[in-house]
Amino acid sequence: MTNEIIRALVLDKSIRLYFTDNTKVLQEIMELSKIKDKVCYLALAKSVSIMSLLSVTLKTNERISAVITLTNQKQKIYADTDAAGNVRGYVNQALLEAHQQQNSDQSLQEFIGPNASIRMMKGFEMNQFTGITDMSYQNMDDDFAYYFKQSEQTDTMLQTNMEFDNNHFLIKSYGIYAQALPGTKEGSLEYVREQFAAENLAPLLLEMNDAEIEKELNQRFNNSKVMERKSIQFTCHCSKEMFYGFLFSLSDEELQKAIDLNISIDTKCHICGRQYTFSPSEIKTLLQTR
Ligand SMILES: [Zn+2]
Repeated sequence: MTNEIIRALVLDKSIRLYFTDNTKVLQEIMELSKIKDKVCYLALAKSVSIMSLLSVTLKTNERISAVITLTNQKQKIYADTDAAGNVRGYVNQALLEAHQQQNSDQSLQEFIGPNASIRMMKGFEMNQFTGITDMSYQNMDDDFAYYFKQSEQTDTMLQTNMEFDNNHFLIKSYGIYAQALPGTKEGSLEYVREQFAAENLAPLLLEMNDAEIEKELNQRFNNSKVMERKSIQFTCHCSKEMFYGFLFSLSDEELQKAIDLNISIDTKCHICGRQYTFSPSEIKTLLQTR
């Protein structure tokens, strides 16, 4: 399943604007997440939506990953993306277990808590940049925007919007990301935010072709241009090699037993659900090498 990010320049090309209907990509990720609790579900969906928008800001080979550590420091949300538009997101086991029940009545603010933080890693291979900021807004969108203001000295606006059905299944998701370029007139970003909020502009634009979008944008923001559309999709980078670690965690006796009984050992990636099977002969090879 793929969606598109639309990149545009508005207000005399002083503001970079990115927006997307990322419903399909998010639905795929959320279904795999197995999260039942609605506030935990919302938190992951928002994190993934924000990261999906960032994919279009990356250069060749670059990737960016976010780790959100909630106020309960054992509970974490992971989301990442790369320049090719591959997007992933998941929560760790501690968070999943703490939110087993169907519907807690926590708000997003309570869920994040007063001492949460965002850690971001950006770059490729040896050229990694890491930054950390507190999540003092406790609402995700403004917390991520604040991260960019702090770490990249760039005024940023982020809005993620979602609709759910009665079973809290995601039925619609879209996101907007705007960045003020150096020298932008004061208040410009706030003006963009107001325009998008007042007229529910994003869903309208997302139904249009590039020429229509440009016309709509020009009516509100002077001298606007649609630059490109870029695909995003869910991709998990797991491989069988990564699951040898799980086999290593088993004792020699357990591995020997599988060989003796001639049975395979199955492992499963909890992010994408892919299953990796280790045959008795592969287990034997492993046992011989340790
Ligand atoms: Zn996987």
